[in-house]
Amino acid sequence: MKFSTLKSIYQCKCPRCHEGDMFLRGKLLSPTKFTFMNKSCAHCEQSFEPEPGYYFGAMFISYGINTGIFIAAWIALTVIKPDYSLTLLLTLLGVAAIVFLPFIYRVSRSIWIAIFIPYRGDDRQPSN
Ligand SMILES: [Zn+2]
Repeated sequence: MKFSTLKSIYQCKCPRCHEGDMFLRGKLLSPTKFTFMNKSCAHCEQSFEPEPGYYFGAMFISYGINTGIFIAAWIALTVIKPDYSLTLLLTLLGVAAIVFLPFIYRVSRSIWIAIFIPYRGDDRQPSN
C-alpha cells in the first residue's frame, strides 16, 4: 500500500483520485453533521455510495479501531494508575469512544471504500 493511499484514507479523500473530499469539509466536530457525505467526488465523479448498504462492512473496521483504542487506554491506565477502579476504566473507555467517534466513523468508511476502489490517478471516467 502506497503512502499516498494511507494519506488519502487519513484525510478521507476519494480513493480513486486522492483529490475530492468524501465528507463535508469543516463538519468533523459538528455533533449532527460529521456523518454527512458527498454523493460523489467533485474531481473525478466517483460515487461514494456505489450501492445501498455499501458501508455495512465499515462497522467491522470501526470495531477493530475501537478495540485498539480501548486496549491502549487500558494499558495507559494500568501504567499511570495501577490501582484503578472498574468505574474509572469504563468511564475512560466511554469518553474515548465518544471523543473519537467522528474520526473513527469517517476513517473506517474511508478504509472500506479504499479496499474496493483502487487509485487510478487523474483519469476522469467514474467506475462503480
Ligand atoms: Zn475522485
